[in-house]
Amino acid sequence: MVPAQSGKGTIGFTTTIPVEIIFAAGYTPCDLNNIFVEDPDPQHFVDRAEHDGFPHSICTWIKGIYGVIMEHEVEAVITVMEGDCSNTQALAEILRYKGVRTIPFSFPYDRDATILSREIEKLRKELSPDRGSSLRVEKEMTVVRSYLEEIDSMTWSERNVTGAENHLWLVRSSDMLGDMVKYGDAAAEFIATARKRERMEGIPIGYIGVPPIIAGLYEFIQEVGGHVVYNETQRQFSIPYHTPDIVERYLLYTYPYGIFARLEDISREIERRGIKGIIHYVQAFCFRSIEDVILRETISVPILTIEGDLPRVLDTRTKNRIEAFVEMLEVRKD
Ligand code: SF4
Repeated sequence: MVPAQSGKGTIGFTTTIPVEIIFAAGYTPCDLNNIFVEDPDPQHFVDRAEHDGFPHSICTWIKGIYGVIMEHEVEAVITVMEGDCSNTQALAEILRYKGVRTIPFSFPYDRDATILSREIEKLRKELSPDRGSSLRVEKEMTVVRSYLEEIDSMTWSERNVTGAENHLWLVRSSDMLGDMVKYGDAAAEFIATARKRERMEGIPIGYIGVPPIIAGLYEFIQEVGGHVVYNETQRQFSIPYHTPDIVERYLLYTYPYGIFARLEDISREIERRGIKGIIHYVQAFCFRSIEDVILRETISVPILTIEGDLPRVLDTRTKNRIEAFVEMLEVRKD
């Protein structure tokens, strides 16, 4: 469900953007990816896109986002033209053609602070948050993000949070389900409950790549003896950086700035979290799968690449590969 509208209505977006500005402007933020994949029947959004002419050989996330927008009322969609997906330009064009207000936003590939600052200013001009609200949101969001950081840390240090829970808390942080105060309260409650659990066993595994479109992945990894202690992109969506400067925060955020920015973060977290193996998820028809070449040659622990296409449950072949991978990591450990 698209979050209940508060104030001026819902602003959708195609990937993580400085969500602080949407909240401060009195709109309800909505990450369209999450609406798509958490729907009880996500495939129908894909079918809608294909019915409207989207080719089969286009990434399913793009078709899902399009289907969500066609079915839900949004004031505007922020389309990230640089720093996310090579398909977004065409998506933005078809949305404009269909009468949807689109607001372009870009993360400069070279991490240029002046350009990012200008993009953030442009977004502010489009949505017009006032200074008082911006300061209030900054304060409240710092608290919520500190809870998310704690959940993430508990996953690998105390081991009382599952990989699936870690994934959900962090992936939803892009829009905080449309209400950051409620999201923060729920996170605080979750932390208190999780702290009462026993420490979980399992080989420490890292998950890298875009969030999975397939269901049941984390549960299966756990079932066969793994414990996902790191969700690379989802953690980045929670903007785990402590700086009061919004431009600096979104410059430290690695996801939009290519494989080398990501590699630094991945290598540091492998070390810090004691990760023994990496599962690299790639999406069918995604340009990012080419980056697997670099990852395979640079990551210091064994890596298993898996691919998803449609929003379905994990298939048997991928299950077998994951099981064999975790077994191999067990043997290496011994
Ligand atoms: S998975 Fe790749 S192709 Fe698909 S929306 Fe994301 S970046 Fe684009």
